[in-house]
Amino acid sequence: MTDLIPTPAQARVPVRGGGTFPVRRIYCVGRNFADHAREMGAAAPASKAERGQPVFFLKPADAVVTGGAAAPDVSVPYPPATRDLHHEVELVVALGLDAPSGVLAPEDAATLVLAYGVGLDLTRRDLQAAAKAKGLPWDIGKGFDHSAPVSELVPAAQVTALASRSLTLEVNGDTRQHGSLHDLIWDVPEILHELSKLFALKAGDLVFMGTPAGVGPLLPGDAFVASLEGVVELHGRITAA
Ligand code: MN
Repeated sequence: MTDLIPTPAQARVPVRGGGTFPVRRIYCVGRNFADHAREMGAAAPASKAERGQPVFFLKPADAVVTGGAAAPDVSVPYPPATRDLHHEVELVVALGLDAPSGVLAPEDAATLVLAYGVGLDLTRRDLQAAAKAKGLPWDIGKGFDHSAPVSELVPAAQVTALASRSLTLEVNGDTRQHGSLHDLIWDVPEILHELSKLFALKAGDLVFMGTPAGVGPLLPGDAFVASLEGVVELHGRITAA
């Protein structure tokens, strides 16, 4: 059968050392740092035993925004329908293999991870807050066009001591967010384990791991630098709508 429309463009993220990562799905984790959960008015678990279930949502694959090799800075247009675009700096995990069928054991999760990066889970906070207040889905607050700027991906073999590294976001030279991955409520193997109970994880999936405290507004003209300490940075700017 002939396609009746042109094949939609495949979203891809560059990988350090060469090649690209075609994106299949973008999973996101909500409330994965206690200090951010509290700043959003949610309860933070006092211990791992009390953490319950992680909060998941998705973004469309074509929400990714990447720079090219020649011009690695990303340009993010200010989205429509909001007056409160927020930044959330996050660790990004890229899966290079399909998970085996069934639930993935946490100790087997690392074998699926191809690479790590740093990204922004951009959020139309006003729309998300309105949805939360009515018990409605978060999609329009989270899953909009250009809502997932992401750095180049760094092969996992080159990333040591992940848990001791920090995430930082600077906006116009001021530090807005800073947190250690040691403070993740659910670490990467635990999140992949939990996701595998709900979805068949596959090569091409990205996971945004949640943000530390300090989320706040971005405006047209703002320049940002997101960093995964000692691994990779994402430089970019918010442009007029
Ligand atoms: Mn987030």
